[in-house]
Amino acid sequence: MTDSYGFTCVRDEYLAELTSRARLFRHLRTGAEVLSLENDEDNKVFGITFRTPPRDSTGVAHIVEHAVLCGSRKYPVKEPFVELLKGSLKTFLNAFTYPDKTCYPVASQNLKDFYHLIEVYLDAVFYPRITPSIFQQEGWHYELEHADDPLIFKGVVFNEMKGAYSSPERVLSEYGRQAIFPDVTYGVSSGGTPPYSRPDL
Ligand SMILES: [Zn+2]
Repeated sequence: MTDSYGFTCVRDEYLAELTSRARLFRHLRTGAEVLSLENDEDNKVFGITFRTPPRDSTGVAHIVEHAVLCGSRKYPVKEPFVELLKGSLKTFLNAFTYPDKTCYPVASQNLKDFYHLIEVYLDAVFYPRITPSIFQQEGWHYELEHADDPLIFKGVVFNEMKGAYSSPERVLSEYGRQAIFPDVTYGVSSGGTPPYSRPDL
C-alpha cells in the first residue's frame, strides 16, 4: 500500500538482536529507499546516503561532501555545519565519504532539535548553494601571500588529505585496499590523494 507521500512499505520485520522493528520503504517515483528502525533508544538518529562511486583519486566525492555543507537555499549562511556544531543539542553530527557512498548522519535526544537537524541536512544535500569559489575553497586553489613567495596550493579537503596521508596506518590501509580491489571503486582513493588532485602533477 502506498501512503500519501508516495512511499510503499516493502519489508517489515522485528530484529530481535537490535530489539527494533525494521521497516523498509520505497519511494515509487524516485526509487529512494527509507529504512526505519523503531526502538526505545534515547538517541534519535537520521542519515541520508548517496551512491558516489569515484572514477579517480581526485577526491571529487569528498569535495562535494564538504561543498554541500557550505550553505543551502533555506540556510544561506557560510557554514551551516559549523553553526549546528556550536548551537545544536546534537549528540552526533558529521559527514563521511566512503569508496562507494557519501553519508550525512545526525543524532539528538531532543525531538525538536532532531527534526531541525534533519531539515538543515536535507536542504543542504538537495538544495546546496555551491559556487566556483566554494569548490576552490574546499578542493584546491593557488595561494600567494607576497609577490616573491612560491605559488602554493591550499584547500580544505586538500589539506585534510595531506594530513590523512601523513599517517602510516592510513597509507597502509588505503594501498592495501587498492591492491586487493584494483578494478572497482576501491581501487582509487575516494578521499582524494593530494598529488592527483593537482592538474600539474
Ligand atoms: Zn573531509
